[in-house]
Amino acid sequence: MASSNKRDYYEILGVARTASQEDIKKAYRKLAFTYHPDKNPGDHTAEEKFKELGEAYEILSNADKRAAYDRYGHAAFSQGGGGGAGPDPFDIFREVFGAGGGGGGIFGSIFEEAFGGGQERRGRGADLRYDLHITFEESCLGCEREISLTKPETCTHCTGTGAEPGSKVSTCDTCRGQGQVYVTKGFFSVAQACPRCRGTGQKIEKVCATCQGQGRVEKASKIKIKIPAGIDDGSRLRSTGQGEGGVRGGPSGDLYIIIHVKSHPVFTRDGTDLFCDVPISFAKATLGSEIQVPTLEGTANLKVPAGTASDTTFRLRGKGVPELGGRGHGDLHVRVRVQVPTKLTADQKAKLQAFAEACGENVPGEDPGMFQKVKEFFK
Ligand SMILES: [Zn+2]
Ligand SMILES: [Zn+2]
Repeated sequence: MASSNKRDYYEILGVARTASQEDIKKAYRKLAFTYHPDKNPGDHTAEEKFKELGEAYEILSNADKRAAYDRYGHAAFSQGGGGGAGPDPFDIFREVFGAGGGGGGIFGSIFEEAFGGGQERRGRGADLRYDLHITFEESCLGCEREISLTKPETCTHCTGTGAEPGSKVSTCDTCRGQGQVYVTKGFFSVAQACPRCRGTGQKIEKVCATCQGQGRVEKASKIKIKIPAGIDDGSRLRSTGQGEGGVRGGPSGDLYIIIHVKSHPVFTRDGTDLFCDVPISFAKATLGSEIQVPTLEGTANLKVPAGTASDTTFRLRGKGVPELGGRGHGDLHVRVRVQVPTKLTADQKAKLQAFAEACGENVPGEDPGMFQKVKEFFK
């Protein structure tokens, strides 16, 4: 049985049976760093130790599992022996160190977090963000923009190696090509980018004259961006490979363009539907008329039937915003607002008076029921 020759979990972590949770965590952190496969490439013994540590920590960090282990030993967890799937030691490592994914491997992200990073490492260029402001019409109809950016790009002279073409590149003596050196910080040893080779692991005989060995140079570039019709405020476009250049042969990052749409004086938008308010005179609303309404492409005619009340909404099919990446269009919703005349000439006033008198008490179209209710209110 495998369990019989298994080492004691407390022994693996080098802690006493009475150790606190904090001590167990500290012990795990220290040892997991030492035996992490990233630090010991190809070392099978270290890999086994790393797995063993993960297993021991998984059990002893959990109060219930620890209690079971204290009572029954390994027998508490052996289900017919034979190894099995067990916990992923890398998951445990990530959990304890709280590191996310990241391009530089798990060590890269931890050290960047802990010590500010910024060291040259072989890898993908950073992603960039660009905030682009466009007009409402541009967002609806689509447009093309050219943006100017100054960003680090892979040096063309040395193709990003940092070495003058033809010069010899050998392994760095200080870090033996690892790119990292270990220094003691408090109670455990941590990796830092090698100060001699700046984390590249290479010794360059003659540094590239163009980029001074950085592998990248700051360059101003112009990038054409095609903004599709129907894009909405807050959308994000990705321009693949237009971010920062990669370091030492790594790929470029991406450029993310965040779209900001200016508000429009007339239109508002909801999905692919457009909305606007249009004033209409009292006479036109009463008698019916054809009025001009604004659209994205100019104007359109709208037939308003006789006796149209204020706030009536008319729908113009297909006059809204194009579907993003599709063929359809939304609709335009026009709400008419009946205007009450305020400045009347003497003649207009007299005619309106005559109109009112001709109507008597019951103006056509007025709701008699409503009129009755108001009268009762004042009784
Ligand atoms: Zn160069
Ligand atoms: Zn080095």
